[in-house]
This record gives sequence, structure tokens and C-alpha cells, in this order.
Amino acid sequence: MATTETLKLPDIGNFEKVEIIEILIAPGDVIAAETSLLTLESDKATMEIPSPMAGKVVDVLVKIGDKVGTGDPIATLELAETAPATAVSNTVAPTPEPAAATATAETRQVSIQSAPAADIATDHQCDILVLGAGPGGYTAAFRAADLGKQVILIERFEQIGGVCLNVGCIPSKALLHVSSILNETRDMGAHGVTFAEPTIDLDKLRGFKNGVITKLTGGLKQLAKQRKVTILHGIGQFSSPNHLTVKASDGTETTVGFAHAVIAAGSQPVKLPFIPHDDPRVMDSTDALDLADIPARMLVIGGGIIGLEMAQVYASLGSKITIVELADTIIPGADKDMTRPLLKAIRKRYENIFLGSKVTAVSAHDDGLEVSFEGKDAPASDRFDKILVAVGRAPNGKKLQLEAAGVTVDERGFIAVDQRMQTNVPHIFAIGDIVGQPMLAHKATHEGKVAAEVICGLPSAFTPITIPSVAYTDPEIAWAGQTEEQLKADGIAYEKGAFPWAASGRSLSLGRDEGITKALFSTDTHRLLGVGIVGPNAGELIAEAVLAMEMGADMADISLTIHPHPTLSETLGFAAEMAEGTITDLLPPKKRN
Ligand SMILES: Cc1cc2nc3c(=O)[nH]c(=O)nc-3n(C[C@H](O)[C@H](O)[C@H](O)COP(=O)(O)OP(=O)(O)OC[C@H]3O[C@@H](n4cnc5c(N)ncnc54)[C@H](O)[C@@H]3O)c2cc1C
Repeated sequence: MATTETLKLPDIGNFEKVEIIEILIAPGDVIAAETSLLTLESDKATMEIPSPMAGKVVDVLVKIGDKVGTGDPIATLELAETAPATAVSNTVAPTPEPAAATATAETRQVSIQSAPAADIATDHQCDILVLGAGPGGYTAAFRAADLGKQVILIERFEQIGGVCLNVGCIPSKALLHVSSILNETRDMGAHGVTFAEPTIDLDKLRGFKNGVITKLTGGLKQLAKQRKVTILHGIGQFSSPNHLTVKASDGTETTVGFAHAVIAAGSQPVKLPFIPHDDPRVMDSTDALDLADIPARMLVIGGGIIGLEMAQVYASLGSKITIVELADTIIPGADKDMTRPLLKAIRKRYENIFLGSKVTAVSAHDDGLEVSFEGKDAPASDRFDKILVAVGRAPNGKKLQLEAAGVTVDERGFIAVDQRMQTNVPHIFAIGDIVGQPMLAHKATHEGKVAAEVICGLPSAFTPITIPSVAYTDPEIAWAGQTEEQLKADGIAYEKGAFPWAASGRSLSLGRDEGITKALFSTDTHRLLGVGIVGPNAGELIAEAVLAMEMGADMADISLTIHPHPTLSETLGFAAEMAEGTITDLLPPKKRN
């Protein structure tokens, strides 16, 4: 016979009687240990009260507006026979007020009640389930484990690390490093040092790149083990608000019950309907990173960061590159004056760059892929050996059966979250590419930490002043804060300091003079609003600007900071001096006392 237990309010610390502002369960609900039962609000904090055990709710003994204290009865529960009624900590850490949220408390309540509650047997039970082991997922899992939670991490691939470590940030940067060495040795001829044309051993090069991936992903597995994070491999789909089914590659299915979940299932490359994607000569970024061969003529569809980085790798290895981009500029998110030096460089290195142009059809032939174009620069058609499609990435939100959990996903597959990374279902969080732009690893990791900390009762929120972007091209382009184009569009008054690297001793000693560091300051407060940098190592340099913005630094803070000489980092100080009119390394554009 089933055992019934009365759930009582656990120790809530120094509070005597606290008001119930939200009830998160209803009679008939099947809940896991740690499922939130209700939300209390005192004058100091709000706190969610978790269930100490799993079972089926028979009756709810309180209502919204009641004032309750430690030991008061909340609900009666018919204990689950399959899930062990493991008691969890009965001290509740207060959680902060939800910040301005996309998903409101009201929609959360509606959604969780409409989600089907199922009586499901579990093979594993955990405090926190993390779906997807990319930078967002493994960060959330590791942080939660460090905060004392029992975590299960679900990943469909054998290697953890997600897109970033396996088929994104890391392999692309390993290949771009090789590419920049190739470019630099070729450029050295102009400085009196000539190297023979290199011999490329593709297998060895691929081995170098794969070795970097293996080192990093192996390290992650070790870290997971040390933290006692369980990794289950297979495709995860929700089967209820507290259960996920994992289908392994051999077809076996496992059910995991959870009190909280973090969805970190990432994104995938966008496919275009008029392109024969099943032809092996049509690549996405994952295929391109595989380096199957070096095509003689390659078309890159999309002049964004990923397309331009891969174009650079293949160009330096010997491919003739054509780029086609719909916008009238490359890397449309950055200011045009920042992308211009890169455009100038690649116009020399590549066969063609068609801006304001698009591909309308691709047909496969034995001797190549025939591509039809439309646009101001492009020919009617041309034939290529390979095509890289790099037109963006789409979130994986529609593949997770989120409706079974009651989580709202939009028509594109994005999941809406608030600043605490909470979805419309209070115990389910989402992070990384799946919650929106910018789709960047450093955004995913920071969001992962926030989700883990909020679940563990810490007062965290994802509220960065800025998230920097970097194109690791040659020259690199990096920007943070507001772009000049955004400031103009928003009618914000700003002052600009732009320092040309042609006046930087460090840049000239590298044989480079095309760089620019541009700093944008508020006219009213002189605070730093945005920075754009183009030139070698721009990606490393932008970090100082990000810190300056996070610390609320102004023009004088930056110009008075002593930067080491000669370095490229000086150029940010010089840009601030240009805006101030105190520069001495150039003629000041305006004079100030
Ligand atoms: C070529 C390329 C270069 C890039 N370079 C950079 C860069 O230099 N810097 C940068 O910041 N960003 C870069 N990015 C973007 C970066 O890789 C992503 O923003 C980042 O990986 C997102 O992390 P995430 O944790 O949200 O998701 P992902 O890394 O996509 O991880 C999601 C994980 O979830 C797993 N998964 C998905 N669905 C399921 C399921 N149903 N069941 C089980 N597992 C599932 C996936 O297999 C994957 O491992 C690059 C991307 C590409 C493609």
C-alpha cells in the first residue's frame, strides 16, 4: 500500500511567518525530490521551497496569501515506489527577486500546470540534469557540482565539449594559427627573409588539430570525474517536466528524473533549401574543419566570422577563394571602418568577393558545382570544386520535445529566459546558443555559471555590460560595447578617438600598419561606450576595453593608465588621448588643456 507523508515547511532561518506568493504544485502532480513546491516572500528575499522527497501530490494544504513558518504543513504526498524518498537538505537558501523577465511568473504558473505530469519510472535521479555538454553545459554542470549538487550531464556525442571544442572555436583557431604562420612567412619576403613554399601534409595538420581537441576534451572528462558529475551519452528528449529520456546509439533508453534541469543543447549550421547539402562537395563549418582536401576553387557563402575564418584557412593552404555575401559589407555586426582593412587585405588574397549578392541555385555536375548568382558584383554563374555554406546557425530548441516539459520555445527554436536563465517553467533553465544571440562560447559559459548558482540559491544574474566579439581573421577584428553605427542610429552623443596603428612602433615592428583602435566615449560623462579594434591580436586587446566598460572607466581613466611600451595595448591608451586631445605621438585632432 502506498505511504502518505505530510510535507512540512523546512527550517527557513530567521523568519517567523512568511507569505506564500506562488504555489507550484497541484493535486495529482507527480514530483521529484527537490521539485519546488511554493515560493515565499519576506521583506528581505523570495525563496522557493523544494520537496524533500518524490511522490504524487494528494492535497495542497495552503493557499496563496497564507503566512507560514517552520514546521507548518504544506501538502500531503503519496510516496513514489520507484524513486527512493531520499531526503534533501531542509535548510532553504533565499533566492533573489527575479529580474526583468521575458518569462513572467504568471506564464510560468500557467505553463507548469498545463505540462503533462507523468508517473514515470526512473533509471537515474539527480538534483540537476544538464542537457548538452558544450561550454555552457559543462560549465553549469561543474559549477553546480562544486556547489554540492548531484549532477547528470547528457551528451549525444562520445566527446564532451560541444561545438566549441570539437567543431568550432578550438579547431578553427588551431588551423588559423597555422594559416597565420603561412601568411607571415610569405610576407617575410618583403623584409628580406624568403622561405621556400611550404609542403602541406594534410594528415599531419589534421592530426595537430585533432590532438588539441583530444587534449581539451580529455581534460574535461577528467574534471567531470573529479567532480563526480555523471555523463550519460545519448540523445535526450523531455518526457515530463521532471524526466528526460536518453536514447543511446545502440537504441537503449534510459529515463533520468531531475529536480532542476539546465538546457544547453546549442545550435547547428543553417541549411539553404536550394543547395544540395547531401553532395560531399557542399560543406558546412564542421565538414570544412575536417580538411578532407584542398579544393582548387572554393566558394564561401556568407561573409560573417565563421565563413571568413574558414576562407582564410583554405586560402593559405592554396585554395582560390570566392566569397558571396548578401549584405554590402563583410561581418555586418561590426563598424565598416573596422572591417575595411580586412576587406582590403582579402580583396588582394582572394579570387572574388561579391558583396550585396546572393546565390540563387546550385547544381551538381561531375566536374564541379554550378552556382547561379544575383547581385551587383556577381556574375550570372560560375563553377566551383567545393562550397562552404556559412550563413548562420539555428538553435536546437525544436528537437528536445520541450512541450512534454511545458517549456516555451519560439518558432525558430530559441528558448526565452530571464536574467537568471530561468525558462517559463521555474525549475528548468536554459543557456548558451539555444537562448539567443550572440552565439558565442564565452556568453554560454557565463550563463552556465549563473544558471547553476541560481539553482543553488545564490543571488546571480546574467547582466553583462557587454559581450565582446572577435573575428580571428588576418587582420583580426574585435569589438565590444556599442558600435559607432549603433550610437548614431540611437542618437547617442559620443566623442571618438581613433588611433591608426601606422603610428604604433610595435605594429610597424611587426611589419603591419593597417590596424586601428577606436574608442567611443559618452559626450556627457566621458565614459567608455564602445571600442573597435582591427589589427593583429585585436582579439587579445579587446579584453582591456571590456574590463574598462564593466568598471565604468572614462576617457581619463584609460589615457592615464600606463600601458607598456612598445605594445599594441598602448593603442587603446592612445585612442583615449586622441579623444581627449592630449596625444603627443600624433598631432591631436583637437587641443585640450
Ligand atoms: C566554426 C565555428 C567557430 C566558432 N568559433 C568561436 C570562437 O572563436 N569564439 C566563440 O566564442 N564562439 C565560437 N563559435 C561559437 C561557439 O562554438 C558556440 O557559441 C558555443 O559552442 C555554444 O555553446 P553551447 O554550450 O550553447 O552549445 P554547443 O557548444 O552547441 O553544445 C551543445 C551540446 O549539446 C549536445 N546536444 C544537442 N542536442 C542534444 C540532445 N538532444 N541530446 C544530447 N545532447 C545534445 C550537442 O551534441 C553539443 O555537444 C564557433 C562556432 C563555429 C561553428
